[in-house]
Amino acid sequence: MGANLFIALLTPALSLVFASAFFLLWTYRRHGHVMVLCLSYVAYAVGFLLQSFDLPIGVAPTKFLSNLLLLIAAVSLATAAVARHDRPSPAKLLSLLGFAGIAALSWFLFVQPSLVGRIFAINLACSGICMVVVAALKPVPSKSIVDRVLIAVCTLAAIDFLIRPLTAIWIGGEGYGAYHASLYWLLTNFSMVLISVMLALSLTTAIALDVMKELQAESHTDPLSGLLNRRGFEERSAAYARRPSGASVPLAIVLADLDHFKSVNDTYGHAVGDAVIAAFATHLRISSGKDAIVGRIGGEEFAIVLPASDLMTARLFAEGLRASFTQHRIKGLPAHAEKVTASFGVASRATNEDFESLMRRADQALYRAKNNGRDSVKLADQLPADADCVVAGYYGGHI
Ligand code: GH3
Ligand code: MG
Ligand code: MG
Repeated sequence: MGANLFIALLTPALSLVFASAFFLLWTYRRHGHVMVLCLSYVAYAVGFLLQSFDLPIGVAPTKFLSNLLLLIAAVSLATAAVARHDRPSPAKLLSLLGFAGIAALSWFLFVQPSLVGRIFAINLACSGICMVVVAALKPVPSKSIVDRVLIAVCTLAAIDFLIRPLTAIWIGGEGYGAYHASLYWLLTNFSMVLISVMLALSLTTAIALDVMKELQAESHTDPLSGLLNRRGFEERSAAYARRPSGASVPLAIVLADLDHFKSVNDTYGHAVGDAVIAAFATHLRISSGKDAIVGRIGGEEFAIVLPASDLMTARLFAEGLRASFTQHRIKGLPAHAEKVTASFGVASRATNEDFESLMRRADQALYRAKNNGRDSVKLADQLPADADCVVAGYYGGHI
């Protein structure tokens, strides 16, 4: 029993290690499904332990409790694994499988005792649960490597759970003495250790990556406006900046700065100032297309990268923003208050121009808009390298 006991303790011990890992991840991001994973592994550890150690309540009730815990663990683990994705929850179907498994098991435990019957009941239920997870995860769009590994492990587990009862028939052992000494018991433990480790490793990696992604998104988002902050904006824009520039890939940038914003704060208070920033940000986000990169890059300064837009398109866009924002009613600002306006600088990327230079030119245009009485849109001067692409005089007159 020495080696068997060691193997029988291995699965619960590993499960508790993984439960601790999920608990740790949960302390970073208090998502319900991460806590469910933690508790599932605890239930799994206890359930598995009760396979080897009988409670004073008797052998049959211990078996019942053990299998109940294992099925609860399997159902909740499967539900939590799918809950990471924006998919319809298969919780009902999973619970039904779990319930069917425990009902069949009870029958073969209390009504018509049969070890092989019980082995079939629990393994077929677990196999079904794994298949439901695979079916739920398969349609997830743009799956990561971890998701693919998870699907592969669940497929493997589904097959393993199907093969096991057949192995039990093949070995043909009835009675507990023979059961614990049987090759079936050894194979069960061995494949359980392997599957639990693979499943838990892919799940902990998946959750850790989810947490990292969320933390990164948070570090890239400005909480007041909900837009990208400067860091997020620069990182997202860098992807465009790296693409080869040229006349065939137009790219434009619009910089915006609220006018006399200091006096808005001074007159109506900082909270109203915040509301104006949030309203302007919402206006930018709603007005920009889904490909646009919109960021709050300073206190009351905003930037919008417009992929596939030339200078004229960007200018019309900025002019539209400017004109429509003045019509906005902002909560907190009295009706008689002067309209809050903004100034805009627009530049389009010249052939082979880097992103910093493009930003600089847009900023110079914005500076001119400020010097020209604000509440206006100004275009950046064309670079000499690109000037020959422009019909003379077409871009000459600033708005
Ligand atoms: P201009 O038209 O030249 O842009 O004048 P301005 O007053 O808008 O510009 P200035 O740079 O002098 O002042 C910007 C003000 O924006 C000062 C600062 O207190 C305010 N500000 C910056 N960030 C925030 C914020 O998050 N909330 C609020 N309420 N105010 C902010
Ligand atoms: Mg300003
Ligand atoms: Mg400013």
